[in-house]
Amino acid sequence: MKAIRVSEYGGPSVLKLEEVPAPQVGPNQVLVRNHAAGVNPVDTYLRANIDNRGPKLPYTPGSDSAGVVEAVGGGVTAVKPGDRVYVGGTVSGAYAELSLCEQIQVHPLPSNVSFAQGAAMNVPYATAYHALFNRGRGDAGETLLVHGASGGVGIGAVQLARARGMTVIGTAGTARGRQLVLEQGAHHVLDHSAAGYLDEVTRLTGGRGVDVVVEMLANVNLQKDLGIIAMRGRIVVIGNRGTIEINPRAAMNKDAAVLGMALYHATPEQLAGIHAALVEGLRSGTLQPVIAEELPLAQAARSHEAVMEPTGHYGKIVLVP
Ligand code: NAP
Repeated sequence: MKAIRVSEYGGPSVLKLEEVPAPQVGPNQVLVRNHAAGVNPVDTYLRANIDNRGPKLPYTPGSDSAGVVEAVGGGVTAVKPGDRVYVGGTVSGAYAELSLCEQIQVHPLPSNVSFAQGAAMNVPYATAYHALFNRGRGDAGETLLVHGASGGVGIGAVQLARARGMTVIGTAGTARGRQLVLEQGAHHVLDHSAAGYLDEVTRLTGGRGVDVVVEMLANVNLQKDLGIIAMRGRIVVIGNRGTIEINPRAAMNKDAAVLGMALYHATPEQLAGIHAALVEGLRSGTLQPVIAEELPLAQAARSHEAVMEPTGHYGKIVLVP
């Protein structure tokens, strides 16, 4: 089968399309024929071996895909060959024609959802859900700022929070991004490239501030978030690409919490609950992943450049094998 292989850590050019043996299913495993694979920023960090977290070389990148079950191993009861599924984590990598998965890593993909949309589910939506509800304890009636709402995680957060009954304020850096964020369910949208844009949050909340912030770029925004957080508010750090100086007094004065989160710390029980909710959201139509661009698998290097552009995001980039 064709797969993208990384044999040395480095820039996007280390992503090579190669012919490799097809993986074979073992007990409790599922082989999925991928129709699309999701490209996430974390795939680029692993490729560059940032923080020494790169997988053992050589490897096939990617944790997210969607396709059709090709074969199942002994003990598999959840799916059968021919079923449509989306994949959340793999044994063999997602940027490939076939992915070997543990049974718990595959989830039903309802017929109303495209394979590209299925490939946009796992990291973006599971992260958004875990940040909003497990870490941030967001609830109906509360106000949320999705600070960076136009990308994969941000659009997931807007859709999930709107369906939960939260009042949603989103931000984006381009006019097209702001239009998209409104279309996806945000009640209000702001331009995170404009001076003083968060003054509007104070006005929109009658001076109260927001109960929850899900933050995509904490090294730029954390101090600003502390300025618009409500009493007993929660700021959940999802994305961060550097350092920042903050005044902790702002947190003290509001009894506010700054919470880190990494999806890979979610427990198996939390992940099972998250995916159960995500599948129902897909089925009911409240969750509709937005695809920015579909690229052929051979253009994996281009997809890694695109996902790391500083601004101009409109949903997910997916690779098509
Ligand atoms: P993405 O699709 O590339 O989107 C990036 C988002 O950041 C866009 O909405 C972009 O908006 C926004 N942005 C750019 N400048 C910003 C600013 N000054 N303030 C606020 N937002 C800004 O990425 P993603 O998949 O949504 O992931 C977002 C971040 O979360 C990444 O850093 C990623 O590594 C991280 N992440 C962490 C976890 C975890 O477990 N902790 C999981 C998934 C992702 P415009 O393009 O409109 O400017």
